[in-house]
Amino acid sequence: MKKLIDKLEKEKRLSFDEWKSIIVEFRKEKDKALPLFDNDSILSYASEKARKIRLENFGNKIYIRGLIEFTNYCKNDCYYCGLRKSNKDIERYRLDENIILKCCEKGYQLGFKTFVLQGGEDLYFNDDRMESIIKNIKKNFPDCALTLSVGEKSFETYEKWKNAGADRYLLRHETADKKHYSTLHPESMSFDNRMECLKNLKKLGYQTGCGIMVGSPFQTVECIVEDLMFMEKFQPEMVGIGPFLPQHSTPFCDKKGGSLEETLLLLSLVRIMLPKALLPSTTALGTVKEGGRELGILCGANVVMPNLSPLEFRENYLLYDNKICTGDEAAESLKSLEKNMKNIGYEIVKERGDSPFFKK
Ligand code: SF4
Repeated sequence: MKKLIDKLEKEKRLSFDEWKSIIVEFRKEKDKALPLFDNDSILSYASEKARKIRLENFGNKIYIRGLIEFTNYCKNDCYYCGLRKSNKDIERYRLDENIILKCCEKGYQLGFKTFVLQGGEDLYFNDDRMESIIKNIKKNFPDCALTLSVGEKSFETYEKWKNAGADRYLLRHETADKKHYSTLHPESMSFDNRMECLKNLKKLGYQTGCGIMVGSPFQTVECIVEDLMFMEKFQPEMVGIGPFLPQHSTPFCDKKGGSLEETLLLLSLVRIMLPKALLPSTTALGTVKEGGRELGILCGANVVMPNLSPLEFRENYLLYDNKICTGDEAAESLKSLEKNMKNIGYEIVKERGDSPFFKK
């Protein structure tokens, strides 16, 4: 397996069968329940290489993104998500433009240079409302980058928001396997449209992020291989990889959560394949295991996304169960992140942290 990981480092791609054999072998090792970073393990080898590659490309810097979860309304019904429209067991909220700007202000004072506006597909935030929010954030914080994560929209909408000043867009593809996609989403949602959206975002010059949930229901080894091969072809600037975590009010409430180890392995493999990618160590990783976010960093991730949303709304943004929601104010949470990252040899930096491919 080590030879295949070396090959990945050199050629930045593997064949279907090669990818598959790494994951199959890794699962066999995992079944032996060896310590996470056992010297001889695939994870240990891959993560060491990922750390080295990360160091060459980004030093020991960790970029921070201020996450603003501005609406938990959604018109969609993805089977895995706590924000799905059929979930009646949730108090819905929207933040208005003023509150969003206040969140940015608070973040800016703490040194954040990227804001991420994340929400469900909420029709209230139509093209014009979003355009106004984007323009005002960019006007008030011209040295900051703005990332949007609000789902599937038309080419024209993405274009309008890009022209208004949005810099980046996160749209997890969830799975590159069409059949798998149809097991995670109702018929009203289309795999082809999601892929089309990702292509459009790239075409429009957004720094674009795709991504998956590791261990999502019905995900096979082949699905994961297809995801990796899709990423190799798509060359995203950002990749979000976190474990699937069930949410109690969804059709997948009794499904098993994704594996921490496999998430870490995939982070490392993606780092090796895409050395310049921005890879967040997700909150979901920190939810599966205390210190999970630090492990993500040790496996090649270089971004963390502390929450800037007002405290009173955070517990209603429940994508999955037991989401870390410490009740810490952004300032406290940043301080403890800085400390934790320092303890493992990394430094939180207060920069925009654009993709190295990005040209202003
Ligand atoms: S995953 Fe996104 S689109 Fe699907 S229900 Fe949740 S918020 Fe809506």
